[in-house]
Amino acid sequence: MASPLPPSPVGVRVRVPAKINLALKVGPPRPDGFHPLATVYQAVSLYDEVHAAWADPEEFEVEVTGEGADLVPLDDSNLAIRAARLLARTHGAHDSLGVSLSIKKSIPVAGGLAGGSANGAAALLACAALWDIDVSAENLRALAEELGSDVPFALMGGTAVGSGRGEEVAPALARGTYHWVLAFGHHGLSTPDVYRRFDELNPDAVQPEIPPALMNALRGGDARQLGAALSNDLQPAALQLQPRLRLLLEAGLEYGALGALVSGSGPTCAFLVDSESDAVDLSVALSAEGLCRTVRRATGPVVGARVIG
Ligand code: ATP
Repeated sequence: MASPLPPSPVGVRVRVPAKINLALKVGPPRPDGFHPLATVYQAVSLYDEVHAAWADPEEFEVEVTGEGADLVPLDDSNLAIRAARLLARTHGAHDSLGVSLSIKKSIPVAGGLAGGSANGAAALLACAALWDIDVSAENLRALAEELGSDVPFALMGGTAVGSGRGEEVAPALARGTYHWVLAFGHHGLSTPDVYRRFDELNPDAVQPEIPPALMNALRGGDARQLGAALSNDLQPAALQLQPRLRLLLEAGLEYGALGALVSGSGPTCAFLVDSESDAVDLSVALSAEGLCRTVRRATGPVVGARVIG
């Protein structure tokens, strides 16, 4: 239950990373419409920040600044608002709770990096701290699952295997730090559109399994092996919907990336390189090609959502 006194008048700030899918294997749609997934997530150092401050009881509001802010809904469909309301309803004295959320975005919207899910995870954590709700890690994870497939991983971070529709996550045995270049597309891709195209292209999809070569590469901390093992079943669908992405992937490989793939449902493309200096070189080269909107460097794995102030 919530304590009667606001413990933190200045608010709580949570930093939450983007994810990429090192492997994304997709099966045929289930009766509930979701697709069974076998995926390996990695959290990378591209962060959104969610700040939570007290608002009047039953007031839930959000403002968004930064990357793609004008594309983010400000009503109850915003994942951060949904997270706050869910926590208040299930774990708090909900008629005495309210929150004013501010989201500073660096993760592109509809980019395949699970920015919305990250904001949901961050809001859960920020509101629990703000309202002084003593919610166990297990309960927090159950709420995250209810909010969406990628939300539990945003809480956990690191490198993890995801199953079910992606919401069942378990840490993966992984060594080393990997250097990534992320190229943002000019326009977002709708996740449902990409899955629809996947279904058209794969009428005989089979139950998904994680590629053993990828797990071996992670266990050995071998970036070159990892680059060769990256895979995404949604990539052909994303490339059909945005054909220019193929040129971007090819350009990155020509400039020496160890591996390249569309992240999740796209259109962000992730390029694995050997070192920080290779990441700088590739970023400059890809920016000059003009095939993407923005290029960012990131490392992974990093921790999941954390309170930073
Ligand atoms: P997915 O998790 O489905 O792969 P994505 O990473 O491609 O999604 P998101 O940035 O999560 O894309 O946004 C998907 C949609 O979610 C957006 O088009 C937007 O309408 C909605 N959305 C709701 N809340 C948020 C939020 N806080 N930040 C970004 N998008 C949000």
